[in-house]
Amino acid sequence: MVRRFALLSAVIGSLAFPTATQAQQNADMAAQEFQAWLQTVRTEASQKGVSNQTLDEALANLKPIDRVLELDKRQPEFTRTFWDYIGRAVSPDRIERGRKLLRQHADLFRDVYARNGVQGRFLVAFWGLETNFGDHTGGFPVIGALATLAHDPRRSDFFRAELMNALTILDHKHITLDRMEGSWAGAMGQTQFMPSTFVRYAKDGDGDKKIDIWGSLPDVMESASNYLSSVGWKRDETWGREVRLPKGFDLDLVDLDIRHSLSEWQKMGVRRADGGNLPIVAGMKASLVLPAGYKGPAFLVYNNFNKIMVWNRSIYYAIAVGHLADRIAGKPAISVKRPANDKAISRTKVIEMQTALNELGYDVGKPDGIMGSRTRGAIKDYQRATGLPADGYATISLIEQLQKAVQ
Ligand code: CA
Repeated sequence: MVRRFALLSAVIGSLAFPTATQAQQNADMAAQEFQAWLQTVRTEASQKGVSNQTLDEALANLKPIDRVLELDKRQPEFTRTFWDYIGRAVSPDRIERGRKLLRQHADLFRDVYARNGVQGRFLVAFWGLETNFGDHTGGFPVIGALATLAHDPRRSDFFRAELMNALTILDHKHITLDRMEGSWAGAMGQTQFMPSTFVRYAKDGDGDKKIDIWGSLPDVMESASNYLSSVGWKRDETWGREVRLPKGFDLDLVDLDIRHSLSEWQKMGVRRADGGNLPIVAGMKASLVLPAGYKGPAFLVYNNFNKIMVWNRSIYYAIAVGHLADRIAGKPAISVKRPANDKAISRTKVIEMQTALNELGYDVGKPDGIMGSRTRGAIKDYQRATGLPADGYATISLIEQLQKAVQ
């Protein structure tokens, strides 16, 4: 009887007041589980040819990094506007510094262009956008960050493959473990290459047989230009240009999947931003992009724009690279000005808009606060049905109109 009571009180005690010992036990169990998982990583990497010496060094004392999971689960509170994005990405400081760096390393950029056919102004623009010319390369240990994300169940296959590539890079002695830093998601060095991109495209530029995209500028530029030329960058073309659309232009033609020759666009009334005729280059196809809705600037974009989007699948990013390259080369700013009422839309507002669209029968799926292609499609359908210019662009006034419609 006494013993049963003692046992019961021990159980109750442990439920009601988790002791320090128990917290410790939970932590120990989690640590053991992580170590067992790490053993499977070790076995797989070893089968892929990574040496024991590299694995001993890289996997010793490895623990999940809480901050990495925190950043990975973070959801942005606001959808940034094109104007906000471009204002930060193509700041006067960045343009100025880009020009200086292009001059300072003119020989390097000339050589790289001769070999890989990517113009220096674009390489400087990528460099500026990725890491502010090498200022911000991340500061997370790449192996630790990737192991954390590979161990987490949500996207473990993707990050486990990246972890294997990172271990291979380390094993090939391109970089030492302590210098292998990157973003919380494992993007490495001055170009922020994921390990799989590094393995496929990174190249030695200074001839020491190591590929150091952290510290060697010739390696950084050789790698970036080799990547772009490998995916089809055209050496004699630019990225696109700002244009002017005629009044009443059919906004259904604004679509990256719709490509016409420059002379066809010219016939449809599209002109340079200054009103002049489009340059007519035979064989060049272009698409139209309206990143800030029909009231914002319009861009006619060429093959190289799509190649920027292979690097990063964001239209804002691709325009920022192209525009920064233009500004570095001394070309003018975007001719359309940012409207005074341009303001980021909160996640809550986007969810309200999606809910209203659903209620009105424009299916956006489960409201998630993210302005994806399905939401833009639903906005377009709503705009068409109500006689608005169908640009698929969310503004505060459109959201207010939608909310009135469902009241
Ligand atoms: Ca090198």
